[in-house]
Amino acid sequence: MTMNYLSTRNKDLRLSAPQAIAKGLAPDGGLLTPAVLPRLPSSAVETMREMSYQQRVVYIMNSFLEGFAASELNSYASEAYGGGKFSHEDVAPVRKLDESTYCLELWHGPTCAFKDMALQILPHLLTASLDKNDEKKTVCILVATSGDTGKAALEGFRNVENTKILVFYPKDGVSEIQELQMVTQEGGNVGVSSVVGNFDDAQTGVKKLFADEKLAAELRERGYFLSSANSINWGRVLPQIVYYASAYCDLLKEGAIAKGQQVNVCVPTGNFGNILAAYYAKAMGIPIGRLICASNQNNVLTDFIHTGSYDRNRTFYNTLSPSMDILVSSNLERMVFELSGRDDRLVREYMSQLAQYGSYRVDSSIRTKLKKEFSAGCCSDEQTKAMIAKMWGECGYLIDPHTAVAFHVLDEYRVQTGDDTPTVVVSTASPFKFCDSVLDALGIKEHKGGLDILDQLAEVTGEPVPMPLARLKNRRRRFEGVVKKDAMKDCVLDFLK
Ligand SMILES: *Cc1c(COP(=O)(O)O)cnc(C)c1O
Repeated sequence: MTMNYLSTRNKDLRLSAPQAIAKGLAPDGGLLTPAVLPRLPSSAVETMREMSYQQRVVYIMNSFLEGFAASELNSYASEAYGGGKFSHEDVAPVRKLDESTYCLELWHGPTCAFKDMALQILPHLLTASLDKNDEKKTVCILVATSGDTGKAALEGFRNVENTKILVFYPKDGVSEIQELQMVTQEGGNVGVSSVVGNFDDAQTGVKKLFADEKLAAELRERGYFLSSANSINWGRVLPQIVYYASAYCDLLKEGAIAKGQQVNVCVPTGNFGNILAAYYAKAMGIPIGRLICASNQNNVLTDFIHTGSYDRNRTFYNTLSPSMDILVSSNLERMVFELSGRDDRLVREYMSQLAQYGSYRVDSSIRTKLKKEFSAGCCSDEQTKAMIAKMWGECGYLIDPHTAVAFHVLDEYRVQTGDDTPTVVVSTASPFKFCDSVLDALGIKEHKGGLDILDQLAEVTGEPVPMPLARLKNRRRRFEGVVKKDAMKDCVLDFLK
């Protein structure tokens, strides 16, 4: 098998695709990245135009995954995105809002958030990779979650053979709906436990488990090893490239754009995985113009794109768009690697400055390229709510707070630049996942408790409650466990008896 993945911190390292997916992270701490970015043939968009989403998945992923047969990818794509797993037959539909504004809805999956787009297919890529690497032990995915990722990972790994998954969430750190989504999780290979404390307690606890060599040895005896389903895994970035290509094909099919015409994308950004996938789609040959990076009040990326200085030494804000409350965007390392002309020495230097001082400044050549590809803006909670109200009032389109951040930043970008290029705004969550914020934004002060708030939002707007959330009402609570931070290890040992 060709060794065609390298580390952003060491270009001489070479791993095969199954090794890259199984490892997740390079041994030197760098991110595993294709040694060569495949270029799509000039006929690609024409070819993909008539394809289903699942076929587009195979078409795009095939060129990155040597050692995987197209027939294998076919079956993963249908298991991940077919069979009614997504409530919309187009999987990732594009909705027209006006002559130059389109919304790519990535929340029709089983947990109503865009993490499903990658986490539905990652378990298949991962188990196939382990098999190809001749790994005999069973993988156990450990996740600490502040909400969305844990549920999406549980759904993705549910009943996938040769895998187990154990999710820890902070007792005081997730919403009632998020908690219900997790503790009612079905599947024979899943475990869920709350941890006394906040997200940081849960995350620190999981990091300790990964570093615990005694635990690893004990689990090896029992035939298990631990892994994470982290958003820096190439197996999570790759499936996200597909929906940018897919959206472009759909716009062409509808006659919204002419062949070869550029479209901009505007992406609500946290860990930089989603917008990085748009960059790769562009690098492969999809006609994408500007990449507009939208942040909430945690605007470390806005500053980076404007100034070339990344500085995490700043106040952390809890905002209405919690999945973007991040000060260190791990996937940015791949972007810096690309924009530096793949200079691994430079990446090593910047990342060691980030680890040591919490900041680094890229050189002028990278700054120039950054400005050439990206625009950036940020959005306060007040502006987020105002945008939810505006989109509902003016377009009758109900959006969640993360998506609202993107629409706000796009509005500002258009005023500042006058750029009227057709633009795809990426919508990352169903508004029903954030009922409280959305009702507030619509001016409704009294909110119903528990799951009744779903019906309240449905009554106010006339929009249907998404099935996966509506179904929570009839679900049995399966997991009641609460552990102290020090007892997480026992919880793992108990789970993998
Ligand atoms: C994870 C997430 C994001 C941020 O995506 P990144 O790939 O981390 O930039 C935005 N919105 C929602 C709803 C998310 O769950």
